[in-house]
Order: sequence, then C-alpha cells, then structure tokens
Amino acid sequence: MTNQFWSPIVQRLKPYQAGEQPDFADMVKLNTNEHPYGPSPKVLEALHAAIGDQLRLYPDPDSSRLRAALSNYFSLPSDHFFIGNGSDEVLAHVFNGLLNHPQPLLFPDITYSFYKTYTSLYGIDYKTIPLNSAFQINLSDYQQSSGAIIFANPNAPTGVYLPLDHLSGYLDDHPDVLVVVDEAYIDFGGQSAIALVHKYPNLLVVHTFSKSRALAGLRVGYAVGQPHLIRALERIKNSFNSYPLDRLAQVAAEAALLDQTWFSNVTAKIIADRDALARSMSQLGFDVLPSAANFIFVRHQHANAARIAESLRQQHVFVRHFNQERVLEWLRITVGQPAQHQRLLQVLQTFL
Ligand SMILES: *Cc1c(COP(=O)(O)O)cnc(C)c1O
Repeated sequence: MTNQFWSPIVQRLKPYQAGEQPDFADMVKLNTNEHPYGPSPKVLEALHAAIGDQLRLYPDPDSSRLRAALSNYFSLPSDHFFIGNGSDEVLAHVFNGLLNHPQPLLFPDITYSFYKTYTSLYGIDYKTIPLNSAFQINLSDYQQSSGAIIFANPNAPTGVYLPLDHLSGYLDDHPDVLVVVDEAYIDFGGQSAIALVHKYPNLLVVHTFSKSRALAGLRVGYAVGQPHLIRALERIKNSFNSYPLDRLAQVAAEAALLDQTWFSNVTAKIIADRDALARSMSQLGFDVLPSAANFIFVRHQHANAARIAESLRQQHVFVRHFNQERVLEWLRITVGQPAQHQRLLQVLQTFL
C-alpha cells in the first residue's frame, strides 16, 4: 500500500515490529526484556527533585554530567562517550554515520532485528552470516571483505555470549574493519568489550539503560569508542536533534549509574532467578540455550512454539515468538519475578 505523497524512501522501508505492550491488571509480561523491579529508589528521588520550573529550559545538549559519570564509571575520558535517546537511536546514528561502506556490512542471520531495518532506512548494503548450529557467533565466519560488522553480545534473542578473547583476536586480525558490539544485556553475565576500547580504534560498544538499569521508559543509551568515532556520531546528532535526552532522562540515568549497591544486588537476583527458571523449563521438556542475558531462549521437544505462546497469551502470560526461519520453534522468555515464573510454569504444565 503506497501513498502518492510518500517519498521513495518511505515506500521501501521495512519498519521494526516492537514487542506488544498489552495492558491487563493480572498479566505476566515476559515479552520485551524489561526489568522485573523498578529503578533504584535514588533514581526516583532524583527525578522528583528535577521536576520544577527549570523544565522550561532546554536540557544540556551534550548530557555532560551523565558523560562525566560514565567516564568515571568506566575509567575512560568523557570524549569516549556518545549519549542518545535509547540505544536504538544511538544505533541508528551508528548505521548512518559509521556502517555505510562500499563493501557490505556483515551481521548474524539471527540477531537484533532492528539492524536490518536500519539498513533499509539508510540504504546500506549488507550480508548476513549464519550462526553455527549451537546458535553461536563464530568470528572466523566473518573473514570475507567487509567495511564493518555488528552483532549483539550476548546475542538477541538467543542470550548466547561470545567470550571477549574471540573479539580481541578478530580486532587484531582486522584493523580495517569497524566492529560494533551491541551490549544491551552485558550486565547479566558477560565481560564488556569496553575494556578493549583504549586498545582498538576500530571498536565501538553500545549500551542501554533500558535493561539492567530498569529505565526502558526514559530512553537512554550510549556508545563508547575512541574520539574519532564519537565525533562522527556527534556530527549526525547535531544535524538531526541536538537535544536527544530531556532533563529528566539525564538526571535519572546519572542517579542510576551512581547507585552501585542497588544495581549489584538486583542484577545478582535476576541472574539467580534466570538460572532457576532455566532448570524448571528443562524439567518441563524444554531445550534451553545457555543465557548470559535477562531472558532465556527455549524450544519444547514436542509442542509447537506458536501454539504454546498462544495458550500462554490466553492466560495473559506474554512471551515472545519470532516469525523467522531457524527460530520458529523457539520462544524468548524474559526473566521476571519468581511469582511470575510460577504462574508461567503452572500454565505451561497444564498446557503440556
Ligand atoms: C533492547 C535492545 C536494544 C534497544 O534498547 P533501547 O535502549 O531501549 O533502545 C538494543 N539492542 C538490543 C540487542 C536490545 O535487546
């Protein structure tokens, strides 16, 4: 369906389909990898304090305080950080400003599906590389000539983590390929590639406050890399929207980063609950991929995934099924609160 007023680019776009946001009082929502607990109480305090007549003023266009806090947290100079309105926006600028090359961009066949959407938005030539049969990324499959590669680590929607020494080996061998690692879930079990940024001018790491910092509703993401990469993103941002983060988002993200105690405690709890959920799912006859994320990716040995998702949904239990080759038999289930897991397991038991 096209419209005579649509520009050619709008006609060729293939927009991303976000997970649904249902609204039932009794629902168990395990479909979009949101945090099961609210943000740190210190974040709420900081937000309350920031609500006032200063909202008439534009926010700091460069999120300087938040960048200083990140600089401190990761022990890198603040010119190594770029902040955006959710990591989706950061990724959009990365695709536009750093991943558009004459040679194709490479990314896994199974990964965050927004990558393909950005290639259609920006007209980027790309090639997908199949995950191996254990759904792992094998960087030795990325030897063909390319301008850049991007992947999520831990990967989405599999949760599988690629150890850091594989990445550093690849960076050593390919100094002319830009490597972007989307670490949306890194706090739930992996080692961050930010530790490698000082060494590799061709590495950019993208993070979000949506998952482990429980701020999906405020939209804060960032990229970490050497200043020549960050400057490219700033040039795009300042040609698009100079004020990507509002005052409240900047203040809340800074407070979230400073409350290390809350963060460590609640993250450890989610990891323990994930591992318990994985064991219970195995007992129900599911194959469960090893997860380093706040979700698990599961396949039942006999029952059909779409039918399982539908029967859960009728009981207002929401999980994610992807209508995509290779993963049609799989379901992605966000780690929630233990009581939510109990309800999920009960409904599954009845269904199976
Ligand atoms: C959730 C997610 C994002 C987007 O995060 P926002 O900061 O909320 O835009 C990016 N990449 C991956 C792999 C994700 O799962």
